[in-house]
Amino acid sequence: MDGLSNIGVIKDILSRHGFTFSKALGQNFLVNPTVCPRIAEMGGARPGVGIIEIGTGIGVLTNELCKRADKVVAVEIDERLKPVLDETLAEYDNFKLIISDVLKVDLGKLIKEEFEGLEVAVCANLPYYITSPIIMSLLESRLPIKSVTVMVQKEAGTRLLAKVGSRDMGAVTVAVNYFSEPGLLFNVSRGSFMPSPNVDSCVIRFDIRENTPEGVTDEGFFFKTVRAAFSQRRKTLSNSVSSGLSVDKSVVGKAIAECSLPESCRPESLSMAQLISFSEALKRLIDI
Ligand code: SAM
Repeated sequence: MDGLSNIGVIKDILSRHGFTFSKALGQNFLVNPTVCPRIAEMGGARPGVGIIEIGTGIGVLTNELCKRADKVVAVEIDERLKPVLDETLAEYDNFKLIISDVLKVDLGKLIKEEFEGLEVAVCANLPYYITSPIIMSLLESRLPIKSVTVMVQKEAGTRLLAKVGSRDMGAVTVAVNYFSEPGLLFNVSRGSFMPSPNVDSCVIRFDIRENTPEGVTDEGFFFKTVRAAFSQRRKTLSNSVSSGLSVDKSVVGKAIAECSLPESCRPESLSMAQLISFSEALKRLIDI
């Protein structure tokens, strides 16, 4: 449907369907007509590509994705949006809607069943209340996808785009850089949404790495160590990891020394390679 990001058209559709926004579901819908075509283009929607969209709203972005990609499968939690989408996306036969919480959908199975022979990418204007869990589950489950392009609130974007070894980094930064190469595509002002949130947003694309960094023998342990390391902001690596993993401080200290790191180093000062060698040293010492 044309003109879908026109605020008058949106208001008319929503009022005809008696739709009211749910704050709890992070429903801030895009009303800036320039944003969705850019997300669709830069997110890789084109012939030969299948797109998974998370959270359709009334289908503003979905519409642009359907125009460009071979197939779009969208997962939306709010079943009140189904009749709205039946109207706004009526012209597309390459669209499928799944009403569910995206965190409960087996996306590996969905990709096998829906996107045979297609390259797959994820595109979404994410509900802000579960930004990190969604991104982490997309990356950690090692889905056969090329990229994940998402709009997130600026604060979440800062953490996701922080460099490993910088002040702004957190456990999510390590995970994101382990599985992908993240990059900022563009910023979006708060006025581009209805209702307008209190913060601006940005669009980030994660290009999935074909090969993750070398040297990790147990990914589960590596990420447990990373989460422990960043669980207490501004604490030393030694304190955070020994309390987070319930490991004696002397053992953590030994692992730090084995990697020739300063005794009182902080996790945010470490590179990916240093984090990996520290977790490997710690694992060897614990396993003894
Ligand atoms: N794509 C639309 C747009 O740009 O206007 C809507 C984006 S809005 C920020 C987020 C959407 O995600 C809403 O439609 C909301 O109902 C949906 N949503 C919230 N939690 C979800 C979940 N756990 N699984 C799937 N969709 C969810």
